[in-house]
Amino acid sequence: SSKKEGRDRYGKFQPQQRMAAEQTNILINGLKSALEKDEFTLHYQSQFELRTGRLIGVEALLRWHSAELGPVPPGNFIPIAEETGAIIPIGEWVLRSAIEQGKRWIQSGLPELLLSVNVSPRQLQDRQFAGLLAVMLMEQDFPAGNLCLEITESYAIEDMEQSLQVCREIVGLGVKLALDDFGIGYSSLGMLSRFPFRTVKIDKSLIRDIDSNPYDADVVQTIVKLSGNKGMEVLAEGVETEWQMELLRRFGCHSVQGYLLGRPVPAAEFGKAHLLGRGERE
Ligand code: C2E
Ligand code: MG
Ligand code: MG
Ligand code: MG
Repeated sequence: SSKKEGRDRYGKFQPQQRMAAEQTNILINGLKSALEKDEFTLHYQSQFELRTGRLIGVEALLRWHSAELGPVPPGNFIPIAEETGAIIPIGEWVLRSAIEQGKRWIQSGLPELLLSVNVSPRQLQDRQFAGLLAVMLMEQDFPAGNLCLEITESYAIEDMEQSLQVCREIVGLGVKLALDDFGIGYSSLGMLSRFPFRTVKIDKSLIRDIDSNPYDADVVQTIVKLSGNKGMEVLAEGVETEWQMELLRRFGCHSVQGYLLGRPVPAAEFGKAHLLGRGERE
């Protein structure tokens, strides 16, 4: 029986490994049908200019509520979706849905809102990506200048030249690019200077201790200076305290995002917070 085959396949693993492998298989299979079953939604988190406190942007964040597994955090399924290639159709769904939602906000009182969407390095390896994006923008009559794609540097960028070419095409459409999670992991100055980024997002793990760890504070300050020299803006993510925000202000950081200012919320809640309030005042 297939059950027996399944067991044999993992026979060589220790129980803990076997459980992890089974878990991964459940995720792989779940991801295959998640789009059809309409199990994905997007949440939205506000981004603010530090100097003025003005809302400048919003980041779309993918949420998966699996019928079998319940809610699965992106950190648990995005890497698997990247490995299996499922991220290609999923990423397309994310872009289309975010653009559709962003269009409504732009039309109903937030004309300058910058919509940020996370894009996997896998999507950038696809030669057709910029073309697909152009069609999407045209079909939904979405102003390219109101869109920013957030890219994380990673081992997944195998073909740097190909990704760079796609990034140039994206910028050619008038769409902005942000380097996500900078300051940790695979981030390097090479990518920062070669790719046409408008914004550098400092990873939340570097922001967490800036008030107690002078080394982290130094690194953050240096990133702000370096980015400024290159004509890029810095956005700090994971801002959770007033004191972190005060330090970032002193460092000359351009914008902030974090639980202190707003958690990721469903579209309706974002609209209520930023559109209804406005309507009442006007
Ligand atoms: P990211 O793009 O760096 O997104 C920021 C993450 O930090 C989000 O986690 C957000 O909920 C969380 N966050 C925001 N403010 C705070 C804070 O003040 N404190 C703390 N501790 N966390 C905060 P989330 O939603 O779990 O997403 C995790 C990662 O999954 C994202 O990191 C991104 O790399 C990836 N991801 C999410 N949605 C998508 C998507 O549509 N496509 C792709 N390719 N990746 C996505
Ligand atoms: Mg991001
Ligand atoms: Mg990221
Ligand atoms: Mg990030």
